[in-house]
Amino acid sequence: MTRIAIIGAGPSGMAQLRAFQSAKSKGLQVPEIVCFEKQNDWGGLWNYTWRTGVDEHGEAVHGSMYRYLWSNGPKEALEFADYTFDEHFKKPIASYPPRAVLWDYIKGRVEKAGVKDQVRFNTAVHHVEFNADTGQFTVQVCDHTENQIYSEQFDYVIVASGHFSTPKVPEYEGFNIFNGRILHAHDFRDAVQFKDKTVLIVGSSYSAEDVGSQCYKYGAKQIYSCYRSQPMGYKWPTNWAEKQHLLRVDENTAYFGDGSSAKVDAIILCTGYLHHFPFMTEDLKLKTHNCLYPESLYQGVVWENNPKLFYLGMQDQWYTFNMFDAQAWYVRDIILGQIELPEQEEMQAHSQAWIKRESKIKNSEQMVKFQGEYIKQLIAETDYPSFNIDAVNEVFMQWKKHKKDNIMGFRDKTYRSVMTGKMSKPHHTPWLYALDDSLEAYLDSENREQRVI
Ligand SMILES: Cc1cc2nc3c(=O)[nH]c(=O)nc-3n(C[C@H](O)[C@H](O)[C@H](O)COP(=O)(O)OP(=O)(O)OC[C@H]3O[C@@H](n4cnc5c(N)ncnc54)[C@H](O)[C@@H]3O)c2cc1C
Repeated sequence: MTRIAIIGAGPSGMAQLRAFQSAKSKGLQVPEIVCFEKQNDWGGLWNYTWRTGVDEHGEAVHGSMYRYLWSNGPKEALEFADYTFDEHFKKPIASYPPRAVLWDYIKGRVEKAGVKDQVRFNTAVHHVEFNADTGQFTVQVCDHTENQIYSEQFDYVIVASGHFSTPKVPEYEGFNIFNGRILHAHDFRDAVQFKDKTVLIVGSSYSAEDVGSQCYKYGAKQIYSCYRSQPMGYKWPTNWAEKQHLLRVDENTAYFGDGSSAKVDAIILCTGYLHHFPFMTEDLKLKTHNCLYPESLYQGVVWENNPKLFYLGMQDQWYTFNMFDAQAWYVRDIILGQIELPEQEEMQAHSQAWIKRESKIKNSEQMVKFQGEYIKQLIAETDYPSFNIDAVNEVFMQWKKHKKDNIMGFRDKTYRSVMTGKMSKPHHTPWLYALDDSLEAYLDSENREQRVI
């Protein structure tokens, strides 16, 4: 029987499991699927861990999320087309749920699909190679529950191991003598520890914006953030100042490109992540930076040099869960023989045209539309329920505007579901004052369970 290995049971891997189960439920013959997940539960980044560095087995900790993380975009932009928030929660909820709520949502769909037995938890993939003679992949894993290393053969490999986990860590002069704490956003777990502290955030992307906002929300005394090219440019609270690029630090002071300096207690590097696949042989390894159309992936998913290998979710992400779905359904239909792939040269030419288009993009609106169009194209090829992507693009545009208007208040806005047509409900507590990020507190409409932090 044809065998498929999926590496990772985060939202992308879970989408792949659901895609095959959906085909099976329609009477199609589906190959044997084994999903290897190195953590002890599914959900990928949404499965919160307090750990940093290495886990209990000596594997690199995957998690980059932190306590009190709330969705940074409206849930209406990431809703599954085949499993709505209303179906899961049985009541309307607000547009920016905390991490635990989104984790519950993504788990709900695959629990309903009954695919958990296809996942081998606590099992890290250590090596993948392709044997041209047999046309199969050898996948070597370590089962940390049984403390056993073993290998199995597969006809297809789908890499869904994420790309926001291996930190990109720059070095600045003086870091080795700085007396405070220096950490990367990957290791940031709890803003409360920065209460009453002066924090320097290095970077100007989503992590910088959100990690800084967390520190503000949980009582940091002063926040500085510094940028290399462009300031984030929001209307920050009075104790948050944006500075030009960091030049160097000494024992307690940071020096910036505009000649100013500031005493800081801690430095948080929001400097991005590396696409990192140490378990793939060189000829199978995706090498890309964070962009909308990575090189070597036809339709953003098919490894052009060997179309029995796929990568899911490797794009920079405006769209997330429903984009992973579009990709997973598309990959499924290639494997099931319902989509025929062109010759390698044609695949490459197709990708190059998209890459060229991406290189001409000038602003975030164009990025959103580019990714929306990519998704439209995938969905048109499969039976994934089609949805109004132009309307989702519009949700993203409103979101951008709400952030510009009020960076500490945008999460209080509500949006209409593109899937159900229903308007979401305002949350019981404005985000800035909702200190408890638990599922229970969030769903408690009378807000009885606010914990004191
Ligand atoms: C701090 C942060 C905040 C974010 N906030 C949002 C948000 O608000 N909204 C949103 O839509 N998106 C957000 N994202 C984007 C996030 O990337 C996606 O939501 C989503 O988690 C990506 O899913 P994935 O399955 O591709 O990757 P991941 O979620 O990273 O999952 C990959 C899985 O692969 C497993 N794995 C990795 N290596 C191996 C191996 N060798 N062997 C076995 N298993 C392995 C991991 O354990 C993990 O379970 C955020 C990301 C970060 C870092």
